[in-house]
Amino acid sequence: MDRYIRQSVFPGIGKDGQEKLRAAHVVILGCGALGCSSSMALARAGVGRLTLVDRDFPELHNLNRQILFDESDVAARLPKAVAAAKRLCGINSEIRLDPIVADVNPGNILSIIEGADVVVDGTDNLETRYLLNDAAAKLKIPWVYGGAIAASGMWMSFLPGKGPCFRCLFPYRPGAGVGQTCETAGVIGGLPMAVGGMQAVETLRILVGEPSVGGRLVSLDGWRGTAAQMDVAQVRSKDCPTCRGEYEFLDGKHGNRAALLLCGNTVQISEPGARPVALDELAARLATAGEVEANEFLVRFVPEEGIEIVIFADGRTLVCGTSDLARARSLHARFVGA
Ligand SMILES: [Zn+2]
Repeated sequence: MDRYIRQSVFPGIGKDGQEKLRAAHVVILGCGALGCSSSMALARAGVGRLTLVDRDFPELHNLNRQILFDESDVAARLPKAVAAAKRLCGINSEIRLDPIVADVNPGNILSIIEGADVVVDGTDNLETRYLLNDAAAKLKIPWVYGGAIAASGMWMSFLPGKGPCFRCLFPYRPGAGVGQTCETAGVIGGLPMAVGGMQAVETLRILVGEPSVGGRLVSLDGWRGTAAQMDVAQVRSKDCPTCRGEYEFLDGKHGNRAALLLCGNTVQISEPGARPVALDELAARLATAGEVEANEFLVRFVPEEGIEIVIFADGRTLVCGTSDLARARSLHARFVGA
């Protein structure tokens, strides 16, 4: 019995398309809600090789949406990339699964995505998306953007040399990412499942060579039950550095938040040139996610026992209670936004 018969019978894929999927290599950057949903759909679809990249461990509050993990993974403190590969192997043992436990940065992204046919964006911060945008443009690899927060989400495919890139649509401003995150705005579990599912469908469309792919940004308001699409095929910006071949994020010129271990158990995260932080707004957002104290100089936030995050008005942040740079960057991305 052909396990893929229900999709090879679909004319958009067919037997030839299924063969293309079997020969394909997809990198999933981030195994949070979007990465879980997209990689599960791709594994079930028979994409021959999946590389799963993540720096974190599953936590109990991830389980409302990160569908590859369960309570035993939380208890075992398995890295998300490893736990995801284990689960996917049980779903489809015919495909190759390569977990990579790493914090994606300008120094490693090219080697992680090189040779991939498509990269799926499962990242939790803007800085890494701009970095992926640069790396994918440089290596001419298509990638599928996805974002989900609260009850809304978006997705779009970016193809090398065709239409706009991510930075054309969302021009970069230093410090612009300090904003809502899933930790402060919440996220309804079904929403990232829908967005991740559509990222997987977009990936299949790219892999089988569907000509209509790209050029459209789709957004979903899950709470109201509405969807909208924007034709952005002509929105390529003349001012976009990435499209000119200037890969500033890859070269570490922008958004390169430096994480520095201070004495003891404290990591400092800073971004030179970042705009001042509106501390009162930040404090109000963080109040939904934990204990907050604020004054005119700083916001002090306790996301969990033993961890304290202090954000100063110039954007400099101290993460106290860990000496692990990747974990500190992760906490910063989750709560302060990036
Ligand atoms: Zn561009």
